[in-house]
Amino acid sequence: MTRRRSSAPAAAVPAGLRTRLGVLAALVLLAGCSSEQEAAGELERPAATATEAARDAVAPTSPPPLTEPVEQDLDLALSTPVEDSVYPDVGDPRVDALHYDLDLTWDPSDEELRGEAVIDFRATRRAPRFQLDLGRGLTVGEVSLDGEPVVFARRGKDLVVKAPIVADQRYQLSLDYVGTPVPAPAPTTRGDFSTTGFTITDAGEVWTMQEPYGAYTWYPVNDQPSDKALYDVTVHAPAPWTGISNGHLTELTTDEEGTTTSWQLTEPASSYLITLAIGDYAHSSTATAAGMRVDYWTPRGMAQHLDQVQGAAASVDWIESKLGPYPFDSLGLVVTDSMSAMETQTMVTLGNNDYVLSPAVIAHELVHQWYGDQVSPSDWRDVWLNEGMTMLMQWIYQDEHELQPLRVSIDSARAADQGLRDQYGPPGDYDPRQFGGSNIYTTPGLMWNELRVELGDDEFYRIARSWLVENDGASVTREQIFDHWEKETGRELSGFFDAWITGRATPKPGVPKA
Ligand SMILES: [Zn+2]
Repeated sequence: MTRRRSSAPAAAVPAGLRTRLGVLAALVLLAGCSSEQEAAGELERPAATATEAARDAVAPTSPPPLTEPVEQDLDLALSTPVEDSVYPDVGDPRVDALHYDLDLTWDPSDEELRGEAVIDFRATRRAPRFQLDLGRGLTVGEVSLDGEPVVFARRGKDLVVKAPIVADQRYQLSLDYVGTPVPAPAPTTRGDFSTTGFTITDAGEVWTMQEPYGAYTWYPVNDQPSDKALYDVTVHAPAPWTGISNGHLTELTTDEEGTTTSWQLTEPASSYLITLAIGDYAHSSTATAAGMRVDYWTPRGMAQHLDQVQGAAASVDWIESKLGPYPFDSLGLVVTDSMSAMETQTMVTLGNNDYVLSPAVIAHELVHQWYGDQVSPSDWRDVWLNEGMTMLMQWIYQDEHELQPLRVSIDSARAADQGLRDQYGPPGDYDPRQFGGSNIYTTPGLMWNELRVELGDDEFYRIARSWLVENDGASVTREQIFDHWEKETGRELSGFFDAWITGRATPKPGVPKA
């Protein structure tokens, strides 16, 4: 999301920084640093155990193993799409996308993307037409529905398909498109991050970060988080470049035409968690203690911070000890030219700089695979569901890895809280033009910490895990998570939650007795 390092005050750190802020806010306040650069310099690598060190040491560049593709089970992707309450212009609740099959060809010499998309979807209601989001930089050729040509119209970023649909019927929409993708304006007033989506570097390489929306800058999509779908993505890139996306790598071939990679995501994901990166990549891998391979796609020749990136496997071990088993069946990390980091599902997208490649930020993105990706918000009003628990876990990670004491993180966040509420609004009722302010991170992080202190670690993590298990793969609302915690603790917590999430004033410490 963010493409440049912020030199703004900690209180104003935005969306793409979803990762950074806790660290930053804390460090800036603490150390009196005035820039991220300085703040980032404060971070140190956590002390590695002997096992971790041994695992990290064995990571030569290696050919990536291929996985046999499987037939996708579209029923896994059935969703209940909603119209977003914060960004209603994006997405169409008449469409429940089940599977996106994308075949993409990237030509950096004239910055042209050619795409063929086959989208399986379920209609959620009877309607005379429906629409997908697709960036205006892309010209659409033929559109067909179940093999029959259909009339369509372009209205801004909307692709309106003028064909009747019937509730609960499944359809297959096919189309081809071509053009130079144009990044989408981001819903923020910050000066250091203004667009999302498909981004082209000076060298013609490509990366994407697309929260809260922006997937539509490179493929036709129902670009709202309640509609999770499965993906098969094939990328044709000029040799020796490689196209990277989510899930398992099922094909890698190189010929005089270039490199072709195919990726298969067999667990449904929201569109903001899809990634595409095209560039000159080297592959390496390590494994978690549980034996899962972790793939690293790093710019060829990258040496700085490579050991930190490859420390991701050990961070997964740490997170599993708190939140339970890693929720998906593959994991990779890709380093791009972005200045930010994004928790893209099963393939974390990292910018290439000291801050983003620090252990705390990498751990933050990995925690999101549980809180954010396994269980996702169905509406952007609840983005705090992702960032609050992740922020608390990052603070605890920093504490347990001797990067920063938890007390310091908590005290700094509490000191900043009222100012954040005043500036951005409460985390559950923020200014739509200020997506991703620090309020959605540290405020709910503080709230979860109050419950952790009150209940004790064992009970807190038991409930935090059961939430994930009971809502595996789902998109959820705040009401659901409030109910879950009330049910599991047997306490009346509505006043506590409301004060933290929608209150205008920082609540007093502690959890009120019912
Ligand atoms: Zn985050």
